[in-house]
Amino acid sequence: MTNPLFDALIAPHANRDAPLLILEDESEISGRSFVTRAQKYARVLSDLGLKPGDRMAVQVTKSGEALALYAASLAAGVVFLPLNTAYTAAEVTYFVTDSGAALLVGDPSKEAALREVASGAGALFETLGGDGKGTLSARADSAAEGFAPVARGAEDLAAILYTSGTTGRSKGAMLSQRNLLENAKVLVEAWRFTADDTLLHMLPIFHTHGLFVASNVSLLSGGRMIFLPGFRADEALKWLPKATTMMGVPTFYTRLLGEPGFTRDLTAHMRLFTSGSAPLLAETHIAFEDRTGHRILERYGMTETNMTTSNPYDGERRAGTVGPALPGIEVKITDPQTGETMAQGEPGMIEVRGPNVFKGYWNMPEKTAEELRADGFFITGDIGVLDQDGYVTIVGRQKDLIISGGYNIYPKEIELILDEQPGVVESAVVGVPHPDFGEGVVAVLVRSKDQAPDLDAVQAAVAAGLARFKQPKRYVVVDDLPRNTMGKVQKNLLRKEFEDSFR
Ligand code: ATP
Ligand code: MG
Repeated sequence: MTNPLFDALIAPHANRDAPLLILEDESEISGRSFVTRAQKYARVLSDLGLKPGDRMAVQVTKSGEALALYAASLAAGVVFLPLNTAYTAAEVTYFVTDSGAALLVGDPSKEAALREVASGAGALFETLGGDGKGTLSARADSAAEGFAPVARGAEDLAAILYTSGTTGRSKGAMLSQRNLLENAKVLVEAWRFTADDTLLHMLPIFHTHGLFVASNVSLLSGGRMIFLPGFRADEALKWLPKATTMMGVPTFYTRLLGEPGFTRDLTAHMRLFTSGSAPLLAETHIAFEDRTGHRILERYGMTETNMTTSNPYDGERRAGTVGPALPGIEVKITDPQTGETMAQGEPGMIEVRGPNVFKGYWNMPEKTAEELRADGFFITGDIGVLDQDGYVTIVGRQKDLIISGGYNIYPKEIELILDEQPGVVESAVVGVPHPDFGEGVVAVLVRSKDQAPDLDAVQAAVAAGLARFKQPKRYVVVDDLPRNTMGKVQKNLLRKEFEDSFR
């Protein structure tokens, strides 16, 4: 009997006494005790009546126990469904109902509200706190040891992971054992992870980046993780000397660059820094190299496909690109209207095919049919360009494309010019309703702390670099852009805020 993910990611740790997880309070969890704990949780899930294929929704604070619960779900064949800890009880209701979860595990501090959510949806309810305490862990304490993992096939579901909801309502991506295992293998190889690695893990584990990229890669490689509840620059500086690798979203890197203590010396021993989930500004890439001597390795993926492209470990890491397709994965750029492959160098829809591509959206057959082609290509919704070496540059999301006076405008093209202007830290360009043009371009500029941008000079630079129809019709200066927990700019909020600009 086999259970490919459990056998590859979890079981090998069972006879290791070396630390697998190093926690914020400097305590350590050995591979052996992690697996023992995971098996106890698996026993609890089975005793609660959960069967292979049942869904377990989990909205808990990141902790070693929470990761053991993920491992337990693999052992028990229960479909893991992690939820953003920021979601309110009303939001959790949607996920629990939509997924038909048999069990909801929530933080003890939200017990009253979440228990009601669970009972309304016909699900069981248990608690697990960031400190490892709760009704579920109490059950695990007294559970029998040694759970034999249930048999699972490559096509069986391991997880339903809801997308971030950046462009609309979150969709549940069904991910099979094969999807997750194949991608973890590819990434371990591509990024040269080994049992000697210590990954500084500060990402949430309710998202593909922290769970399936960071945790699965580290678990498969046999290495260990410094497993912190979240990102804090001071904690990062404290732990970096003990790490060999770090994975982050771009905001981690910009915040680290804001720390004088983040130096070449502090990072000299590091082997790899990776970035993803949102675009890394070329400027950040360059500032990071100037400061540390390391070139951040930027990669690209999404909930539905795991990781798709990556800058090379050994070859050239090109700032502003997300690198070529990973081995065994096909990427093509197509005309969004016709689906025909575009000429090289032309922007178009990024489509992806490979063992990493999900099995479809849970409960959304129409959406699945719209985005997943019969020949296996997934239509990502991201617009990109492929260069002659196969490197992909992401131009933006199709939903952020602006159509003004009948012309297509890619916000990124304008943002790149705005970002270079004195006094501008970064920018976001959105289209909002315009009575004459359909949409008009609004530029939102984040001012630097010590200097506000000179808007006349900005407009002159834009006029010199861009055709008239692309030039913003309104400029707004702000202190910050709205971002979600993964550091993604929420353009939907900007569009809403500035929707009356031209009316
Ligand atoms: P939703 O699909 O619900 O609107 P989402 O697409 O933000 O939300 P995720 O699956 O978490 O949900 O994010 C995947 C998206 O993140 C990609 O489609 C892409 O737009 C963006 N992304 C990921 N990595 C990068 C990167 N390196 N550079 C630019 N964008 C990236
Ligand atoms: Mg998406």
